[in-house]
Amino acid sequence: MEWEVVIGLEIHAQLRTKSKIFSGASTAYGAEPNTQACAVDLGLPGVLPVLNREVVRMATKFGLAIGAEVAQKSVFARKNYFYPDLPKGYQISQFELPIVKAGTLTISLEDGSSKEIGVTRAHLEEDAGKSLHEDFHGMTGIDLNRAGTPLLEIVSEPDMRSAKEAVAYMRKIHALVQYLDICDGNMQEGSFRCDANVSVRPKGQQEYGTRTEIKNINSFRFVERAINFEVQRQIDLIEDGGEVVQETRLYDPDRNETRSMRSKEEANDYRYFPDPDLLPVMIEPEFIDAVRKEMPELPDAKKARFQSEHGLSDYDAENLTATRDTADYFEAVLAELAGEAKLIANWMNGELAARLNRDGIDIQDAPVGAVAFAGLLLRIKDNTISGKIAKEVFDAMWVGEGSADAIIDSRGLKQITDTGAIEAIIDEVIANNPSQVEQYRGGKAQLLGYFVGQVMKASKGKANPAQVNQILRDKLSG
Ligand code: ADP
Ligand code: MG
Repeated sequence: MEWEVVIGLEIHAQLRTKSKIFSGASTAYGAEPNTQACAVDLGLPGVLPVLNREVVRMATKFGLAIGAEVAQKSVFARKNYFYPDLPKGYQISQFELPIVKAGTLTISLEDGSSKEIGVTRAHLEEDAGKSLHEDFHGMTGIDLNRAGTPLLEIVSEPDMRSAKEAVAYMRKIHALVQYLDICDGNMQEGSFRCDANVSVRPKGQQEYGTRTEIKNINSFRFVERAINFEVQRQIDLIEDGGEVVQETRLYDPDRNETRSMRSKEEANDYRYFPDPDLLPVMIEPEFIDAVRKEMPELPDAKKARFQSEHGLSDYDAENLTATRDTADYFEAVLAELAGEAKLIANWMNGELAARLNRDGIDIQDAPVGAVAFAGLLLRIKDNTISGKIAKEVFDAMWVGEGSADAIIDSRGLKQITDTGAIEAIIDEVIANNPSQVEQYRGGKAQLLGYFVGQVMKASKGKANPAQVNQILRDKLSG
């Protein structure tokens, strides 16, 4: 039997406001527990929530970015459940009338194709506090600093058909909220996390299968693994004659498996109702127009511009716009090296990306900034060093040895472009390899590579490769 995978994601993006969604307490991460929770966040009696205007602006930005209608009227509702990190006994969220209605997002797939994914809605809500299980023996600590932090919950249609598509979608939303400057995207700190809804159905079947929901995954790698595990679990279950039960599951990265948390029967009945403490949110067209005017260039538009303005390939432009920081870095390098977009793209998508990947760091934390990087590429461009030597220089820059010029100087790496000097090395190589010369002249043309290698070795990699090739050909054929 052939199975089709169906995935829908619910993404929680923390909005980067200074204060909370309904109180004036700070949202800064990492403070001493319970130092940033005021009476409203603690749910003390007699207090009233007041909506932070900034979250409305941020949600509006998101709505415009996905081509969605921003609701003229949206309503906050109480989602009732009991949990120690939720002191009020309810979470303020939006239910029937969310602030952002349906929109779409285009994702790029590995094979170069693209696919449109539907966004059902996005609504505003407050985050809960945190339960701390470590450090307390036989007890649980409660930190309410996070309580009341604004979240935008972005709900997708069940449009994804593989874990890879789900990750591509999640990455795209991640990039988008950072382009829009509405979320810092920090996944370690939990600013961006997702719930993955997963089901399978026989290929060709119309109705969806029963889904499970994997809660709170905070890395792209884990999303992919969790979905793949869950898909296989469901298929095995059905093929063994069992049935998938609708339930909430937890992903355990250490064991790479999902485990049941609670089934539908035990699921909460949230008893949603409009929060009487908060007025409906009414948005005027003028407000939306004003937000539209401050929209930054979005990833798709930037990608198209990189292709048309700088002649970059789809692949290069896609990679260079994958995050806003990457695009900013590229443009900063380009400002120093006008007209060299292709050289910059090759080095950013190749050597720079490889080093970032190896060290597990983001481009904004790269030890070599855009201007220093441009300094390196400039020396390739003006033939001071070859591409090969440039990698060595780049390594040295990476560990803080200084600028490209300083390293080229101190290590004596300047490329040999003096024709006389190159000729002298080539003469020596030819003299030392009489039998190879004979074979070459006898028609074994592929030996040219051998000679180039010998010359480069003799020059410690510093001879200009183009000149070496040219002069070698001349001398060998002569
Ligand atoms: P709930 O209100 O219980 O969270 P929703 O209908 O709002 O349920 O769906 C939540 C998420 O689950 C959405 O992202 C949706 O696309 C996804 N989803 C719904 N049905 C399925 C299914 N059969 N398989 C996979 N994902 C699904
Ligand atoms: Mg849900």
